Amino acid sequence: MARLFARAAYRHIFPRVNNVPLWRVSTVPCTTSTSVPNSSTKDSIPKQTSWDPLKVEEIIREQSAKDMPVEILNPYEEERIQCILCRHNIHVDYKNVRLLSQFISPYTGRIYGRHITRLCRRQQELVEFQITKSRKAGYMAVMLKSVEYLKDPRLFDPNNPDRPHKF
Ligand SMILES: [Zn+2]
Repeated sequence: MARLFARAAYRHIFPRVNNVPLWRVSTVPCTTSTSVPNSSTKDSIPKQTSWDPLKVEEIIREQSAKDMPVEILNPYEEERIQCILCRHNIHVDYKNVRLLSQFISPYTGRIYGRHITRLCRRQQELVEFQITKSRKAGYMAVMLKSVEYLKDPRLFDPNNPDRPHKF
């Protein structure tokens, strides 16, 4: 069985015609019919007494084409891991405060690191740049209330004044 398999695999290196190695088949056009030894295995090639060299070459090419490597997709290819901004193709803009504020700690105002945000290096740098830009443009707060003062009782409602104010 192994012998048969090896024969099939190496057919393009050691071509065989009618299960007879090529070096035994004379490629010279013969006037007298040479007897080719009978093959025990079934083959699609019809039995012939004389061999045309062109036809032999064609048969060899045909047989070797079956053993040529086939183009397939790589089954061991790993899935590409993308960050959340790349996956959803989100454009980071300095005016999009609602998005940028999610990358900032509400307690310290510091920008979360890459080990927390899990962004790729390019997107993390872009987010940091856009947050700085947004702060300079006045869209985002630079100074934040300290954590210990966040739960202080409300003394008044700044959204409901007696008369309109500018601050
Ligand atoms: Zn990314």
